Amino acid sequence: MSLLLKNTSVITCDIDGTIIEDGAVGISNGIIDYVGSMEAYMAEKYDRVMDLRGKAVMPGFVNAHNHAAMTMFRNYADDMKLMDWLFNKIFPLEDKLTEEDAYWASSLAILEMIKGGTTAYCDMYMFMEKTAEAVIQSGMRAVLGRGLQGETAEGLDYRISEALELYRNYHNSGDGRIRVNLAPHSVYTCSPDYLKKVARVAWEIKSGINIHLSETVDEVKNCIDKYGMSPIKLADKAGLLNENTIAAHCVVVDEEDMEILKEKKVNVAHNPGSNMKLASGIAPIKTMTDMGINIALGTDGASSNNNLDMLEEMRTATYLQKVVSKDPTALPVDQVLRMATINGAKALGFDNTGEIKKGMVADLIVINTQKPWYYPKHNVKSAIVYSGNSSDVEFVIIDGRIIMEKGQVLTLDEERILYEVQRRAERIMS
Ligand SMILES: [Zn+2]
Repeated sequence: MSLLLKNTSVITCDIDGTIIEDGAVGISNGIIDYVGSMEAYMAEKYDRVMDLRGKAVMPGFVNAHNHAAMTMFRNYADDMKLMDWLFNKIFPLEDKLTEEDAYWASSLAILEMIKGGTTAYCDMYMFMEKTAEAVIQSGMRAVLGRGLQGETAEGLDYRISEALELYRNYHNSGDGRIRVNLAPHSVYTCSPDYLKKVARVAWEIKSGINIHLSETVDEVKNCIDKYGMSPIKLADKAGLLNENTIAAHCVVVDEEDMEILKEKKVNVAHNPGSNMKLASGIAPIKTMTDMGINIALGTDGASSNNNLDMLEEMRTATYLQKVVSKDPTALPVDQVLRMATINGAKALGFDNTGEIKKGMVADLIVINTQKPWYYPKHNVKSAIVYSGNSSDVEFVIIDGRIIMEKGQVLTLDEERILYEVQRRAERIMS
């Protein structure tokens, strides 16, 4: 099927921050084959033409750090410290989670993400086959990794076996929309020997890495006390850091840590909402961006955020950098838009998405700017970042296919998902 989006503001998210007013985007066989102003007779070349007057088209958001099935624990244990929250509230509940629960909770997360304009995301959790099924059904694009934790490098670790099985069964599945990586949870749940083992396996199967690094002061302090070095240095020594690595958080980092991230071309997933809610601190995003480190944006799991709203995350990210640097020019609109789109696409290894450009894969969203908070119309990019709501997203296109039309997700049964998650959550919490 081919599709023409016309009479719309086209926010390309290219390096120059280009906007095309009264523009058009043509899509054929999933690929963007035209970007520019509307030309005579071009509508005849496409199967379907959508007149998007008063609306804006931009690349879909890429949520670079998430634990989708944790929507099951949303709003359950709030206002707690990370370790207390994780070890005393979340881990005991996770023992009661079944694979069917994980399927429905992942479906809920994907439903929420699509409704808010997210077209690709990165996940680290358990029961990932079930999440993969939800991803395939929904039409979403994703990088999935079975969360790994362990002590020893000896013998067969069942989590690594599960990760390898996930890789064999789902890497490049869903018409290439799913990638599988290895996801060692952190330096406080994995020993150095175990991390080395994971790095070796990743090298053997040529997969990427997804890991939490330097999220809190306590994590960094304990790591230095125990191993004599920071989590980032430890991960580097274990062989985990390279251009296919996503390091989530990187809040408590010193100059040496940042030099390592830069030198090894590590992708950082910044999660300002989660970092604020858990009082983890403020990642030095402006400094790392100025150093040329690729910074993507994520929400983290819904139980520490508590939503998966990338538009809100963009606003939080820019406000936070402005406040901490006491500089209102910090993290301007174009930069934060790229963090939420093309930087994330690069971090996830979906290099042919994240920008509206001829030849790129069509992962796009349409935002309805005919709302009071977009008026008067000056700069549509500013309006989206500083005044917009994720509920303004009307259409979502992934791989050239319309996944959401006028707010209705076409691939998922919304009513069933809400019902299943509610009844399962009641069982787990009881
Ligand atoms: Zn996380």
